[in-house]
Amino acid sequence: MLSTPPRQTSLAYIGLGSNLDQPRQQVATALGELDALPLSRVASASRLYASRPVGPQDQPDFVNAVAALETYLSPLALLDQLQALEQRHRRRRERHWGPRTLDLDVLLFNTTPIEHPRLQVPHPHMHARAFVLRPLCEIASHLRLHGRPLEQWLAGLSGDVTPLA
Ligand code: AMP
Repeated sequence: MLSTPPRQTSLAYIGLGSNLDQPRQQVATALGELDALPLSRVASASRLYASRPVGPQDQPDFVNAVAALETYLSPLALLDQLQALEQRHRRRRERHWGPRTLDLDVLLFNTTPIEHPRLQVPHPHMHARAFVLRPLCEIASHLRLHGRPLEQWLAGLSGDVTPLA
């Protein structure tokens, strides 16, 4: 069940993004907050990356990262926690694909696909987003997505995604 707490630890990959209100700090703080979630700890995290926005271009660049989270939370309980965390960052979102203070996505949850009205895993757009796959490759280059290695997905994508100093 998607809302029953698993008895074993799960490994979830979380995508983080921000392009408002000091994005580097938003993402750095959120990594610490992920580590402090109940029944969870950040096992590893990528560097921070800068990327050009997808969609409307008249908005600041994004800062992105990916974290590997070991958790005993169920997938939906994890989503609840991530959404509460977004709210605590006073997330503002005026338009689709517009600027936001903090966006948190469940990219992968173990190797289990999830189809639920609130949660689709693997995240439905991750295969097409260099700003997700580049940091994910940094910490989990062995992973496959829909049967293909991450590097192969990444090789087919354009998009300027550069590690921040
Ligand atoms: P967004 O803020 O654009 O990332 O979309 C948030 C909405 O996507 C929420 O209503 C979630 O319930 C839904 N959603 C579906 N799948 C996912 C996922 N894998 N990670 C995060 N949100 C998801």
